Formats: sequence, C-alpha cells, structure tokens
Amino acid sequence: MDVKRTLQEVFDYFDIDPKGHSGASTGTKWLSTDGEELASYSPIDGSLIGTVKQPSQEYIDEVVEQARKTFEDYWRMVPAPKRGELVREIADEVRKHKEMLARLITIEMGKIIQESRGEVQEWIDMCDFAVGLSRQLYGLTIASERYRHRLYEQWHPLGPVGIITAFNFPMAVWSWNAMIALVCGDTTIWKPASATPFCTIAVQKVVGKVLERHGLPEGIVNVLVGSSRYVGDNFLADSRIPLISFTGSVEAGRHAYQIVAKRLGRTILELGGNNAAIVTPSADLGLALRAVTFGAVGTAGQRCTTLRRLILHESIYDQFLESLVNVYKQLRIGNPLDESVHVGPLVSEESINTFFDAIKRGKEEGGKLIYGGEHLTDMPSNLYVRPAIMEIDHVCPVTCEETFAPLLYVHKYREIEEAIALNNAVPQGLSSAIFTNHLKEAELFLSPIGSDCGIANVNTSTSGAEIGGAFGGEKETGGGREAGSDAWKAYMRRQTVTINWADDLPLAQGIKFEV
Ligand code: NAD
Repeated sequence: MDVKRTLQEVFDYFDIDPKGHSGASTGTKWLSTDGEELASYSPIDGSLIGTVKQPSQEYIDEVVEQARKTFEDYWRMVPAPKRGELVREIADEVRKHKEMLARLITIEMGKIIQESRGEVQEWIDMCDFAVGLSRQLYGLTIASERYRHRLYEQWHPLGPVGIITAFNFPMAVWSWNAMIALVCGDTTIWKPASATPFCTIAVQKVVGKVLERHGLPEGIVNVLVGSSRYVGDNFLADSRIPLISFTGSVEAGRHAYQIVAKRLGRTILELGGNNAAIVTPSADLGLALRAVTFGAVGTAGQRCTTLRRLILHESIYDQFLESLVNVYKQLRIGNPLDESVHVGPLVSEESINTFFDAIKRGKEEGGKLIYGGEHLTDMPSNLYVRPAIMEIDHVCPVTCEETFAPLLYVHKYREIEEAIALNNAVPQGLSSAIFTNHLKEAELFLSPIGSDCGIANVNTSTSGAEIGGAFGGEKETGGGREAGSDAWKAYMRRQTVTINWADDLPLAQGIKFEV
C-alpha cells in the first residue's frame, strides 16, 4: 500500500483537513486554536502527514472548564447503565471504521498493520468491557458493630480525568482510560503524544458522530492536542482535574507525578518497562521461540511490554540462541502497511540514536553483539534498523534501562533462583514471563519470592496482554493499573456510609459520651 494514497483515503474518509487542523475539541466542536503548528511526519517514508494548531492557555482553559461544567451539571447524574449505552454505541461506530483507523495508526507511528488492527480491536474490547461494567459499579455492604446500623460503601463519579498518552499505542491507551472513565461518570480530556496528533483527531471524529447522534452536550469527551510546551505542567497543575492518568517514560512520569502530588491530585502512572523472560530446560522450545520473537521485535521493540532481557538456562543456551538468530534472519523489515512485513520503522531519529547508543554502551559494558544492530539505509526513511541480539553475562547500567527499540539482551543462568534474581534486578517492574513445563518452577515464579512485576506470564509472551485483567507494573513503572478487573475504582471516589436506624446513639468502639 502506498503511504500517500492511503493517507489521502483516510483523510477523505474521516473528513479531516490536514493543514492547520484545530488542536482542541469539546466533543463535536473544534475550537479555532491559534498556537504554533505541530507537524506530524510518517516514519514510513518521512513524508508530512499534516499540521495541527496547538491550543494556547486560553483554549486549554475553555476545554477544561467545559469538561468541569458538563461533569457537574450533567454527566455525573446520568445513570451508569445509560452512560454505558453511549460506550456501546461508540463500539458499534469503531467496528465500522476499524480498517481506516488501523491504517492511520500504521502511517503515523509505524507499527505493522496487523498490530494496528489489534490496537483498534483493543478499543472495541474495552468498550464491551466497560458496557458490562456500567451495571456493576458495586460497593460492599459491611457488618456494622452497632445495633440497628447499616454500614456500606458506594462509588461516585470523580470529575474530569486528564489522560496523557504515549506515542506507541496512539488509540488503545486512551481507550483503556476513557471507556472506563465514561461509564464511571467522569468527563475526559485527552492529551496525546506529539508524534501522533492525527490518530487523536480521527478518534475524536468517530466519537463525535455518536455524541452528535444523541444530541449530547459538549464537554463529555474532550481533546487537547499539543506538545508538553503547550499542554504540559499547566495542565498537570490544574486542580479542576482530580485525576491525571499518565502513560509514558519513567522520566516524564516522575516529573508529572511531582506536579500533581503538589496539589494532592490523584495519578495513575503507567511508565516504562524492562521486561524479561526465563526459558527453562523443560520448556517447549518451539513455543518459547515464537513468543520470544514476537515479544522482542513486535512494534519494532516499542511496546512498554517488549521483551528486552532473555534469561536462558545453560543447558539450552547455545541451541536456543542459534534458533533465535535463525528466526531473526527471516524477519521481513519494511513498509508496515505491507501485510507480509514483520518489523516497521522506529518512530523518530531520537529512537534511532538511542538504539545505537545502547548497542555501543552495551559493548563497552561487556556485551557481545551477536546479531543485527545495523542501520538499514536503503529504505524510504532513515528510521529502519535490523533488530539486535546482544549476549551479556551480568546486570549493568545499560541493561537496567529501557531502550525503546528492538534490542534484546541475553543472559545465562544455572539455578532457577538465579534466573528470578536476574528478572528482578532492574528498577522497572512491568511484565515478565517463564517458559517451563515444570509445575514447581512455574509456581515459584508466581509466588511472593518470584517475579516482582505487575504482569507474570507462564508459557506466553511478556507482551500482548488481554484487556480483562488489570494492566500495569511495580517499582519505577509507577504502580498504576488500567483496563480490566477492578481498575475502574481509580476513576471514582469511594464513600463510606453509616446509617443509624436505632432510637439511640451507640458510638463505635464502645465509647461512652453522655452530656
Ligand atoms: P514520553 O514520556 O516521551 O511521553 C509520554 C506523554 O507524556 C506524551 O504525551 C508527552 O507529550 C507527555 N508529557 C511529557 N512531559 C509532559 C509534561 N511535563 N506535561 C504533560 N505531558 C507531558 O513517552 P513516549 O516516548 O511517548 O512513549 C514511550 C514510553 O511510554 C516508554 O517508556 C513506554 O514504556 C511507556 N509506555 C508505558 C505504558 C504502560 O502502560 N506502562 C504503555 C505505553 C507506553
């Protein structure tokens, strides 16, 4: 598929004007923003996709104020199952536009078309989950210690939720947050990454169709497209936004956290990972090989759950590594719109530099590059590399960092305890996996003395989580949880209620207070 022609089809389909598009929307309405233009380029061939006029503070205020007002005057009192109906209709709408949305993701951030379709599917799945949830926002009833008293918990909407997202999942991460926040009765304000503004504009167009059909007020689903120079510390510091859900690097997340914490606001932090997989002697090695390859090179190594460290038992080390190198040799690298391609470009020059810098540092710190690591200069842009594999027999500064590119470090282990220690030896704690058919090894890995990550898988990849579970990680990954399970609780405020239906006033803990 040709990039320019496909992009034109996508823009015609969604009726998007790519020149100086507004960077602020309150639902169906786009504000006439007047800030500096933010340009978006396709990593596939470096061509200009379009420009967006960023919102200055005046427009940011207008959007935040609209989100606050609509929350207070309207959305929080709409019954939750009715809010779920809106989300159900969003899902119906997304199903119609899945292919065009997927093509836009591939053109704007470079992941292969199969994975982009999966990303849009994730949004649909999140809608379906949220619709069911809209009838299950349960509180507990608790046994009261007092005579004729009822004690229970209820959950109320929280307020406008600020959703700041990373470039690598330019639609799904927003949907994990927004679909849940909407059924919880919150309004949403989305600030996407600077690399993917047009994904956000297309998403807002799709949602806008549903809002318009129902004649819903402006301010329920809002967008502010701008770099952190425009929508940055000012947005984080805004006390009209009780919750900021931040997805991005550890460095940016740490900064964001401090600003929100200063005003005692809430955060959900979904930050960087540095994920490992252990392959044991009893593993199904064919299965492990496929999982390791998908984990390490999927999205060209630009997933938060990308496999970055492979921990192989010494008895299968040479054999597994040889097979892995053979699989890497068969990877097709190229235009991610082409159905047969496995690995597309990296997102930016900065990512390219980070990749080569990590390889250089890895060698300096004792690693040995055994495959890949070349810059592919005969491609339509400067952003293609051959995924790399580096042997390294110890933990060192470079292996403790998340290099957001397809660079896999390989360690050797003898005892399972040593492998688990290697898994846990980095500051991040997002995803982890073990490949084993040995029950005791699997249980050890999943036990309190096993993996210290938010995600621990057995016989499947570190990446490719389902939305039904809560997603997130420990340590520097930030501790946040999004998507399924009971992650919805972070988007609501809990209220504990005591009702006295007795004729006297017994106090808790047996306290006597007679006046
Ligand atoms: P990034 O940290 O550069 O940016 C993330 C977002 O934060 C962007 O929208 C950016 O504009 C915004 N931002 C940065 N500083 C800000 C500020 N002061 N105020 C407001 N917004 C600010 O990350 P990236 O390069 O876009 O994405 C890659 C990173 O995201 C990786 O570290 C990856 O692991 C992480 N990630 C984590 C998860 C997860 O669920 N744990 C999911 C996807 C990506």
